[in-house]
Amino acid sequence: MKLIRSVLRMQNLSKKLRQKGKTIGFVPTMGYLHQGHLSLVRQSVKDADVTVMSIYVNPLQFGPKEDFKLYPRDIKSDMKLARSSGVDYVFIPSDQDMYAEKYLTTVEVNEISGRMCGASRPGHFKGVTTVVSKLFNIVLPDIAYFGQKDAQQAVIIGKMVKDLNMPVKVKVLPIIREPDGLAKSSRNIYLSPGQRKDAAVLFQALQIARKMIIEGERNPGKVILRMKRLISQTESVTINYIVIAGADDLLPGKKISGRTLIALAVFIGKVRLIDNIVIKVKSQKSKIKITS
Ligand code: AMP
Repeated sequence: MKLIRSVLRMQNLSKKLRQKGKTIGFVPTMGYLHQGHLSLVRQSVKDADVTVMSIYVNPLQFGPKEDFKLYPRDIKSDMKLARSSGVDYVFIPSDQDMYAEKYLTTVEVNEISGRMCGASRPGHFKGVTTVVSKLFNIVLPDIAYFGQKDAQQAVIIGKMVKDLNMPVKVKVLPIIREPDGLAKSSRNIYLSPGQRKDAAVLFQALQIARKMIIEGERNPGKVILRMKRLISQTESVTINYIVIAGADDLLPGKKISGRTLIALAVFIGKVRLIDNIVIKVKSQKSKIKITS
């Protein structure tokens, strides 16, 4: 496994690999790696000739009051995990190299970037789509891997790639969870032992929603109310949002039908956690498929 720090070196290397006919799988991350990240790497190793992972805590996607400075970092452990899961190149650029002085260009997917997480994190998705565009132009991947954990991000990146005719295939892979159901996240490290216990309520709320829908409930308002009631029993948890929407367009509907995303964001103390499930609801009550 090789470490690349220079944008130019990474781009030249990718060009050479492509000239040789090699396919490039790309896993963009902010590091502090866990099994969620590594599941993306494993898929890339299966699909592509060469796997590139980027580790970059992108300042552009953090608000002024958010945790950019505090975001957990552990390059030594990341390098170990990346190597053992089959990464060929780790790309760790500097801020100066990514956003040179007088940097002016951004990429934004309108409408869907302003909903859900975008409503409480203004500019967040503009930061994400800008850095992902830049990384695509540097790494030149054939396939890029994203986690369903960040459901809205995955939809927005899919839309960006489609709208801008980017020659990249986007693969979205299932959420990897802790034994109690909590989605693995680099930010889980911020939780105190008590908060960590309380965080299980996110997955419990999603399970209750799933059960209600399996049993035939199609009114999103009723499902959300039940989830809110459950979560409000855990004092340390404050709801940021609960949304039931189309899994592909993120549009909330009056009735639950089709591929449906149930997504929530909460604060536990100062820690913001997100989670979701996708349910396929066909016309008949019994025909239901849980996809994540
Ligand atoms: P991050 O480092 O948090 O920006 O995440 C990098 C990539 O890993 C994103 O595509 C995430 O959606 C994905 N990811 C993060 N946590 C998980 C998880 N628990 N399961 C699957 N993918 C994940």
